[in-house]
Amino acid sequence: MTSAPQYTATDAADHPAMNHSVEIPTNFPAGARNAAEAFPFLAPPALAARLMAERGEGPLSRQFLPTVEELQEVPGYTTDPLNESCTQKIPGLITKYPGRVLLKVTTGCVVHCRFCFRRHDRATPTPMRPRAFRPALEAIAADSSLREVILSGGDPLTLSDRRLERLAVRLADIPHLKRLRIHTRAPVFLPKRITPRLIRILTGSRLTPIVVVHVNHAAELDSPARAALARMVDAGIPLLNQSVLLKGVNDDVESLAALCEALIDARVMPYYLHLLDAVAGAAHFEVPEARGRELMIALRACLPGYAVPRLVREVVGLSSKQGILYA
Ligand SMILES: *Cc1c(COP(=O)(O)O)cnc(C)c1O
Ligand code: SF4
Repeated sequence: MTSAPQYTATDAADHPAMNHSVEIPTNFPAGARNAAEAFPFLAPPALAARLMAERGEGPLSRQFLPTVEELQEVPGYTTDPLNESCTQKIPGLITKYPGRVLLKVTTGCVVHCRFCFRRHDRATPTPMRPRAFRPALEAIAADSSLREVILSGGDPLTLSDRRLERLAVRLADIPHLKRLRIHTRAPVFLPKRITPRLIRILTGSRLTPIVVVHVNHAAELDSPARAALARMVDAGIPLLNQSVLLKGVNDDVESLAALCEALIDARVMPYYLHLLDAVAGAAHFEVPEARGRELMIALRACLPGYAVPRLVREVVGLSSKQGILYA
Protein backbone atom coordinates (compact mmCIF):
# COMPACT_ATOMS: atom_id res chain seq x y z
CA MET A 1 0.00 0.00 0.00
CA THR A 2 1.35 3.43 -0.90
CA SER A 3 1.53 6.00 1.82
CA ALA A 4 -0.88 8.91 1.69
CA PRO A 5 0.38 12.34 0.69
CA GLN A 6 0.54 14.84 3.50
CA TYR A 7 -1.06 18.23 3.28
CA THR A 8 0.09 20.63 5.91
CA ALA A 9 -0.99 24.05 6.94
CA THR A 10 2.34 25.02 8.42
CA ASP A 11 3.40 27.14 5.48
CA ALA A 12 0.05 28.86 5.27
CA ALA A 13 -0.11 30.15 8.78
CA ASP A 14 2.02 31.48 11.53
CA HIS A 15 -0.21 30.81 14.49
CA PRO A 16 1.05 27.78 16.47
CA ALA A 17 -2.49 26.34 16.72
CA MET A 18 -2.45 26.11 12.93
CA ASN A 19 0.34 23.57 12.73
CA HIS A 20 -2.01 20.76 11.89
CA SER A 21 -1.29 18.21 9.28
CA VAL A 22 -3.87 15.76 8.13
CA GLU A 23 -3.64 12.82 5.82
CA ILE A 24 -6.09 12.30 3.06
CA PRO A 25 -7.60 8.82 3.45
CA THR A 26 -5.65 6.11 1.60
CA ASN A 27 -8.81 4.59 0.18
CA PHE A 28 -9.65 7.78 -1.65
CA PRO A 29 -10.52 7.45 -5.34
CA ALA A 30 -7.84 8.73 -7.71
CA GLY A 31 -10.09 11.53 -9.00
CA ALA A 32 -10.49 12.87 -5.50
CA ARG A 33 -6.71 12.84 -5.07
CA ASN A 34 -6.31 14.79 -8.29
CA ALA A 35 -8.86 17.31 -7.06
CA ALA A 36 -6.79 17.64 -3.89
CA GLU A 37 -3.73 18.38 -5.96
CA ALA A 38 -5.46 21.35 -7.57
CA PHE A 39 -6.78 22.63 -4.22
CA PRO A 40 -5.34 20.77 -1.21
CA PHE A 41 -7.43 18.99 1.36
CA LEU A 42 -7.03 20.85 4.65
CA ALA A 43 -8.78 20.14 7.93
CA PRO A 44 -7.79 20.41 11.60
CA PRO A 45 -7.53 17.00 13.33
CA ALA A 46 -10.87 17.25 15.15
CA LEU A 47 -12.71 17.98 11.91
CA ALA A 48 -10.76 15.28 10.07
CA ALA A 49 -11.91 12.75 12.69
CA ARG A 50 -15.52 13.82 12.14
CA LEU A 51 -15.08 13.50 8.37
CA MET A 52 -13.85 9.94 8.78
CA ALA A 53 -16.83 9.20 11.05
CA GLU A 54 -19.20 10.48 8.34
CA ARG A 55 -17.63 8.02 5.90
CA GLY A 56 -17.76 10.50 3.07
CA GLU A 57 -21.50 11.10 3.24
CA GLY A 58 -22.79 14.02 5.19
CA PRO A 59 -22.84 17.80 5.40
CA LEU A 60 -19.21 18.01 6.56
CA SER A 61 -17.77 15.55 4.04
CA ARG A 62 -19.58 17.24 1.22
CA GLN A 63 -18.07 20.61 2.14
CA PHE A 64 -14.51 19.54 2.88
CA LEU A 65 -13.57 16.27 1.17
CA PRO A 66 -12.19 16.58 -2.37
CA THR A 67 -14.24 14.82 -5.05
CA VAL A 68 -13.78 13.96 -8.69
CA GLU A 69 -16.69 16.27 -9.60
CA GLU A 70 -14.36 19.24 -9.02
CA LEU A 71 -12.38 18.32 -12.11
CA GLN A 72 -15.35 18.80 -14.44
CA GLU A 73 -15.17 21.87 -16.62
CA VAL A 74 -18.55 23.57 -16.68
CA PRO A 75 -19.26 26.56 -18.94
CA GLY A 76 -19.66 29.79 -16.95
CA TYR A 77 -17.55 28.55 -14.02
CA THR A 78 -14.25 30.43 -13.92
CA THR A 79 -11.16 30.74 -11.74
CA ASP A 80 -11.88 34.33 -10.67
CA PRO A 81 -15.70 34.64 -10.70
CA LEU A 82 -15.75 37.98 -8.87
CA ASN A 83 -13.01 39.46 -11.03
CA GLU A 84 -11.01 40.24 -7.90
CA SER A 85 -7.73 40.39 -9.74
CA CYS A 86 -9.05 43.61 -11.34
CA THR A 87 -10.50 45.24 -8.20
CA GLN A 88 -7.16 44.78 -6.43
CA LYS A 89 -4.84 47.57 -7.56
CA ILE A 90 -2.91 47.67 -4.29
CA PRO A 91 -1.68 44.29 -3.00
CA GLY A 92 -4.26 42.74 -0.67
CA LEU A 93 -6.74 45.63 -0.87
CA ILE A 94 -10.21 45.29 -2.41
CA THR A 95 -11.93 48.64 -2.63
CA LYS A 96 -15.21 47.98 -4.40
CA TYR A 97 -17.48 48.51 -1.34
CA PRO A 98 -18.24 52.12 -0.32
CA GLY A 99 -17.17 53.06 3.21
CA ARG A 100 -15.35 49.81 3.80
CA VAL A 101 -12.36 47.99 2.38
CA LEU A 102 -11.34 44.40 2.33
CA LEU A 103 -7.80 43.61 3.36
CA LYS A 104 -6.74 40.11 2.38
CA VAL A 105 -4.07 39.47 4.99
CA THR A 106 -3.26 35.88 4.08
CA THR A 107 -4.30 33.10 1.74
CA GLY A 108 -4.01 30.60 4.60
CA CYS A 109 -7.18 28.99 5.96
CA VAL A 110 -8.13 26.83 8.93
CA VAL A 111 -9.99 24.49 6.60
CA HIS A 112 -10.39 24.30 2.85
CA CYS A 113 -13.98 24.52 1.63
CA ARG A 114 -14.34 22.83 -1.73
CA PHE A 115 -16.73 25.54 -3.01
CA CYS A 116 -14.48 28.48 -2.04
CA PHE A 117 -14.65 31.28 -4.62
CA ARG A 118 -10.98 31.99 -3.90
CA ARG A 119 -9.90 28.37 -4.37
CA HIS A 120 -7.73 29.33 -7.34
CA ASP A 121 -6.18 32.29 -5.55
CA ARG A 122 -3.54 30.47 -3.53
CA ALA A 123 -0.42 31.66 -5.34
CA THR A 124 0.44 34.82 -3.41
CA PRO A 125 2.83 34.38 -0.47
CA THR A 126 1.04 33.51 2.75
CA PRO A 127 0.69 35.30 5.09
CA MET A 128 1.47 38.77 3.75
CA ARG A 129 4.60 40.22 5.29
CA PRO A 130 4.06 43.30 7.45
CA ARG A 131 6.05 45.38 4.97
CA ALA A 132 3.78 44.29 2.13
CA PHE A 133 0.83 45.92 3.92
CA ARG A 134 2.36 49.36 3.82
CA PRO A 135 0.78 50.49 0.52
CA ALA A 136 -2.61 49.17 1.66
CA LEU A 137 -2.38 50.93 5.02
CA GLU A 138 -1.30 54.14 3.30
CA ALA A 139 -4.25 53.94 0.93
CA ILE A 140 -6.65 53.34 3.84
CA ALA A 141 -5.18 56.29 5.75
CA ALA A 142 -5.52 58.51 2.67
CA ASP A 143 -9.22 57.77 2.08
CA SER A 144 -11.29 59.53 4.74
CA SER A 145 -14.53 58.07 3.34
CA LEU A 146 -13.61 54.71 4.90
CA ARG A 147 -15.20 53.70 8.21
CA GLU A 148 -14.50 49.99 8.31
CA VAL A 149 -11.72 47.57 7.45
CA ILE A 150 -12.68 43.96 6.82
CA LEU A 151 -9.86 41.50 7.41
CA SER A 152 -10.33 38.63 5.05
CA GLY A 153 -8.22 36.01 3.35
CA GLY A 154 -7.96 33.14 3.55
CA ASP A 155 -8.65 33.34 7.22
CA PRO A 156 -7.18 36.28 9.17
CA LEU A 157 -7.18 34.24 12.40
CA THR A 158 -4.45 32.05 10.92
CA LEU A 159 -2.17 35.00 11.68
CA SER A 160 -0.43 35.02 15.05
CA ASP A 161 -1.81 37.20 17.84
CA ARG A 162 1.32 39.33 17.57
CA ARG A 163 0.74 40.10 13.90
CA LEU A 164 -2.96 40.71 14.42
CA GLU A 165 -2.28 43.00 17.31
CA ARG A 166 0.21 45.05 15.30
CA LEU A 167 -2.24 45.35 12.46
CA ALA A 168 -5.11 46.31 14.79
CA VAL A 169 -2.95 48.99 16.42
CA ARG A 170 -1.95 50.45 13.07
CA LEU A 171 -5.55 50.52 11.89
CA ALA A 172 -6.72 52.11 15.15
CA ASP A 173 -4.21 54.91 14.50
CA ILE A 174 -6.12 55.89 11.36
CA PRO A 175 -8.58 58.46 12.75
CA HIS A 176 -11.46 58.06 10.28
CA LEU A 177 -11.81 54.30 10.89
CA LYS A 178 -14.55 53.21 13.30
CA ARG A 179 -14.82 49.44 12.90
CA LEU A 180 -12.67 46.39 12.40
CA ARG A 181 -14.43 43.37 10.95
CA ILE A 182 -13.00 39.86 10.76
CA HIS A 183 -14.30 37.10 8.50
CA THR A 184 -13.26 33.72 9.87
CA ARG A 185 -14.01 30.04 10.27
CA ALA A 186 -11.63 29.65 13.22
CA PRO A 187 -14.15 29.85 16.11
CA VAL A 188 -15.98 26.84 14.67
CA PHE A 189 -13.18 24.61 13.36
CA LEU A 190 -10.24 25.73 15.49
CA PRO A 191 -11.97 26.80 18.72
CA LYS A 192 -8.69 26.82 20.68
CA ARG A 193 -7.66 29.76 18.49
CA ILE A 194 -10.15 31.90 20.44
CA THR A 195 -7.77 32.66 23.29
CA PRO A 196 -8.10 35.28 26.02
CA ARG A 197 -5.30 37.19 24.30
CA LEU A 198 -7.10 37.25 20.95
CA ILE A 199 -10.25 38.47 22.68
CA ARG A 200 -8.26 41.22 24.41
CA ILE A 201 -6.83 42.32 21.06
CA LEU A 202 -10.31 42.55 19.56
CA THR A 203 -12.01 44.23 22.50
CA GLY A 204 -9.06 46.39 23.55
CA SER A 205 -8.98 48.42 20.33
CA ARG A 206 -10.55 51.82 19.78
CA LEU A 207 -12.26 50.22 16.79
CA THR A 208 -15.56 48.40 17.26
CA PRO A 209 -14.93 44.72 16.53
CA ILE A 210 -17.38 42.66 14.47
CA VAL A 211 -16.76 38.99 13.75
CA VAL A 212 -18.48 37.25 10.85
CA VAL A 213 -18.26 33.46 10.99
CA HIS A 214 -19.09 31.06 8.19
CA VAL A 215 -21.31 28.12 9.13
CA ASN A 216 -23.35 26.19 6.57
CA HIS A 217 -24.86 23.38 8.62
CA ALA A 218 -25.89 22.95 12.25
CA ALA A 219 -23.64 19.87 12.48
CA GLU A 220 -20.64 22.23 12.41
CA LEU A 221 -21.66 23.71 15.77
CA ASP A 222 -20.37 21.07 18.16
CA SER A 223 -19.80 21.91 21.79
CA PRO A 224 -16.19 23.21 21.48
CA ALA A 225 -17.37 25.50 18.66
CA ARG A 226 -20.33 26.76 20.67
CA ALA A 227 -18.03 27.40 23.63
CA ALA A 228 -15.61 29.44 21.47
CA LEU A 229 -18.47 31.51 20.06
CA ALA A 230 -19.77 32.04 23.60
CA ARG A 231 -16.36 33.33 24.74
CA MET A 232 -16.51 35.98 22.03
CA VAL A 233 -20.12 36.98 22.65
CA ASP A 234 -19.52 37.09 26.41
CA ALA A 235 -16.67 39.52 25.73
CA GLY A 236 -19.13 41.79 23.92
CA ILE A 237 -18.08 41.06 20.34
CA PRO A 238 -21.05 41.11 17.93
CA LEU A 239 -21.15 37.87 15.96
CA LEU A 240 -22.81 37.41 12.57
CA ASN A 241 -22.92 34.40 10.30
CA GLN A 242 -22.73 34.03 6.58
CA SER A 243 -23.60 30.81 4.80
CA VAL A 244 -23.48 29.62 1.25
CA LEU A 245 -26.52 27.80 -0.15
CA LEU A 246 -24.99 24.45 -1.16
CA LYS A 247 -26.56 21.52 -2.93
CA GLY A 248 -26.43 18.42 -0.75
CA VAL A 249 -25.42 20.40 2.34
CA ASN A 250 -28.18 22.83 3.28
CA ASP A 251 -30.58 23.11 0.32
CA ASP A 252 -33.63 21.94 2.26
CA VAL A 253 -35.87 23.80 4.73
CA GLU A 254 -35.12 21.49 7.66
CA SER A 255 -31.33 21.96 7.41
CA LEU A 256 -31.57 25.72 6.97
CA ALA A 257 -34.08 26.18 9.80
CA ALA A 258 -31.96 24.00 12.11
CA LEU A 259 -28.88 26.03 11.17
CA CYS A 260 -30.58 29.37 11.87
CA GLU A 261 -31.93 28.17 15.21
CA ALA A 262 -28.57 26.70 16.24
CA LEU A 263 -26.90 30.02 15.38
CA ILE A 264 -29.44 32.07 17.34
CA ASP A 265 -29.06 29.73 20.32
CA ALA A 266 -25.30 30.33 20.10
CA ARG A 267 -26.06 34.11 20.00
CA VAL A 268 -24.82 34.44 16.43
CA MET A 269 -27.12 36.43 14.11
CA PRO A 270 -27.78 34.92 10.68
CA TYR A 271 -26.61 37.60 8.23
CA TYR A 272 -26.23 36.42 4.65
CA LEU A 273 -27.20 33.31 2.74
CA HIS A 274 -25.10 33.55 -0.42
CA LEU A 275 -25.97 32.02 -3.72
CA LEU A 276 -22.90 30.13 -4.94
CA ASP A 277 -20.26 32.09 -6.82
CA ALA A 278 -19.56 30.43 -10.17
CA VAL A 279 -16.04 29.26 -9.40
CA ALA A 280 -14.49 26.49 -11.49
CA GLY A 281 -14.63 23.21 -9.58
CA ALA A 282 -17.78 24.00 -7.59
CA ALA A 283 -20.58 23.63 -10.16
CA HIS A 284 -21.89 20.52 -8.39
CA PHE A 285 -22.82 22.74 -5.41
CA GLU A 286 -25.09 24.98 -7.48
CA VAL A 287 -28.64 25.58 -6.20
CA PRO A 288 -30.89 27.48 -8.64
CA GLU A 289 -31.98 30.95 -7.56
CA ALA A 290 -35.65 29.95 -7.80
CA ARG A 291 -35.05 27.18 -5.26
CA GLY A 292 -33.30 29.72 -3.03
CA ARG A 293 -36.39 31.93 -3.12
CA GLU A 294 -38.65 28.99 -2.25
CA LEU A 295 -36.46 28.09 0.71
CA MET A 296 -36.54 31.69 1.96
CA ILE A 297 -40.35 31.76 1.86
CA ALA A 298 -40.43 28.52 3.83
CA LEU A 299 -37.92 29.87 6.38
CA ARG A 300 -39.90 33.07 6.83
CA ALA A 301 -42.94 30.93 7.57
CA CYS A 302 -41.30 28.96 10.39
CA LEU A 303 -38.73 31.24 12.03
CA PRO A 304 -38.80 34.58 13.85
CA GLY A 305 -37.77 37.42 11.51
CA TYR A 306 -34.44 38.00 13.25
CA ALA A 307 -33.38 34.40 12.58
CA VAL A 308 -33.77 34.66 8.80
CA PRO A 309 -30.66 35.64 6.81
CA ARG A 310 -30.73 37.78 3.67
CA LEU A 311 -30.51 35.83 0.43
CA VAL A 312 -27.84 37.54 -1.68
CA ARG A 313 -25.57 37.12 -4.61
CA GLU A 314 -22.36 38.87 -5.50
CA VAL A 315 -22.53 40.56 -8.90
CA VAL A 316 -19.35 41.74 -10.61
CA GLY A 317 -19.42 45.52 -10.95
CA LEU A 318 -22.01 46.16 -8.21
CA SER A 319 -20.80 48.03 -5.14
CA SER A 320 -22.90 45.94 -2.74
CA LYS A 321 -24.52 42.54 -2.60
CA GLN A 322 -27.59 42.04 -4.73
CA GLY A 323 -30.49 41.11 -2.47
CA ILE A 324 -32.74 38.42 -3.95
CA LEU A 325 -36.41 39.29 -3.46
CA TYR A 326 -38.65 36.37 -2.69
CA ALA A 327 -42.02 37.56 -1.42
C1 LIG B 1 -19.90 41.06 0.37
C2 LIG B 1 -18.62 40.80 0.92
C3 LIG B 1 -18.01 41.69 1.82
C4 LIG B 1 -18.64 42.99 2.26
O1 LIG B 1 -19.85 42.72 2.70
P1 LIG B 1 -20.97 43.52 3.45
O2 LIG B 1 -21.23 42.59 4.57
O3 LIG B 1 -22.07 43.59 2.47
O4 LIG B 1 -20.44 44.80 3.93
C5 LIG B 1 -16.80 41.31 2.32
N1 LIG B 1 -16.17 40.19 1.94
C6 LIG B 1 -16.72 39.33 1.09
C7 LIG B 1 -15.99 38.09 0.73
C8 LIG B 1 -17.95 39.60 0.55
O5 LIG B 1 -18.46 38.72 -0.31
S1 SF4 C 1 -12.39 29.33 4.98
FE1 SF4 C 1 -13.16 30.89 3.56
S2 SF4 C 1 -11.36 31.49 2.31
FE2 SF4 C 1 -10.86 29.53 3.33
S3 SF4 C 1 -11.44 27.94 1.88
FE3 SF4 C 1 -13.22 28.24 3.20
S4 SF4 C 1 -14.49 29.76 2.12
FE4 SF4 C 1 -12.42 29.85 1.23
